[in-house]
Amino acid sequence: MGDNAVFSDMVSILGEDSVARNVSMKEYTSIRTGGEARYLAEPATTEEVIKILQYLRENRQNFYVMGNGTNLVFPDSGYDGVVIRIGSKLSRIGHEGNRIMAQAGASLAAVSNMALDAGLKGFEFASGIPGTIGGAVAMNAGAYDGEMSHVVAETLCVDDKGRLIRLKGKEHAFGYRKSRIQTDGLVVLEVTLELTPGDKSCIKRRMEDFNGRRREKQPLNMPSAGSVFKRPEGYYAGQLIQECGLKGYTIGGAQVSDKHCGFIVNLGNATSQDVLDLIRYVRKTVYEKTGILLEPEVRIIGGEL
Ligand SMILES: Cc1cc2nc3c(=O)[nH]c(=O)nc-3n(C[C@H](O)[C@H](O)[C@H](O)COP(=O)(O)OP(=O)(O)OC[C@H]3O[C@@H](n4cnc5c(N)ncnc54)[C@H](O)[C@@H]3O)c2cc1C
Repeated sequence: MGDNAVFSDMVSILGEDSVARNVSMKEYTSIRTGGEARYLAEPATTEEVIKILQYLRENRQNFYVMGNGTNLVFPDSGYDGVVIRIGSKLSRIGHEGNRIMAQAGASLAAVSNMALDAGLKGFEFASGIPGTIGGAVAMNAGAYDGEMSHVVAETLCVDDKGRLIRLKGKEHAFGYRKSRIQTDGLVVLEVTLELTPGDKSCIKRRMEDFNGRRREKQPLNMPSAGSVFKRPEGYYAGQLIQECGLKGYTIGGAQVSDKHCGFIVNLGNATSQDVLDLIRYVRKTVYEKTGILLEPEVRIIGGEL
């Protein structure tokens, strides 16, 4: 299929304000690296997500579903296909009783603020994670002893055949930073959380405490994709990296943060290749010195380490 046909078909499904060509992924990822996606599509309704997925599958077009891009590294050569961004255009949030219902593109910060307003506790852990709730379910994101698996009651998803399915609790097959969403190639449309009533001032204090700890320990003033590696059992990745003498180690524009060695920061002009080379170097060094092989938590599109 010709380029123009794909573009105009997508415009007819999503409208012209929601499809763009040759979009730099630097602008859409928190680490600010990567080349251009051939197309970026931003559906504004769940029906549009279903339709665009169906269209792309029927026409055998490559696609990649992203949220807020806070855990992603796109190749410098770009992405030869359609990046579907489920973000602020699909971010309605509501609540009823102890439940919060959010569209997949709602930010975790907005959902935690809604929980606070509703006097519901159990979601404070997520308030400082910079992603969407859809991305957080896919990753089973977590912090400060909380994780999505503790609070997700159900999700509405599109499966790899384009069918709508509802998953409840254990059906998500949550593990450490993984879920069935990723293994089965599902796209999250809506998430329902089950929380518990709590005292608003306690909820607020916990959110402030967690966010204060982040500001103190993490290099939040620099572009990054958060913790690069999963926590190896019994250790902390950042601590191992620091003990191996890699604090501040730099390749090109990518640096092991001197504030938190688990983060790789973009000094301003990093390429994705710099980031990948640094990830490889850190992994190799830590393995040689400790025998522990660090597994990446960040998602490297189109690449293996
Ligand atoms: C400063 C900083 C701090 C961070 N702190 C934490 C932390 O404390 N804990 C933690 O777990 N993570 C943390 N992260 C990483 C990241 O924020 C989380 O993994 C977050 O959940 C990713 O959400 P996202 O919307 O940005 O997803 P993206 O990065 O866009 O995508 C991540 C994965 O989710 C998939 N995905 C996204 N949306 C959907 C959807 N609607 N349906 C299906 N799949 C989807 C993508 O395909 C991809 O595989 C941090 C990142 C940064 C930059």
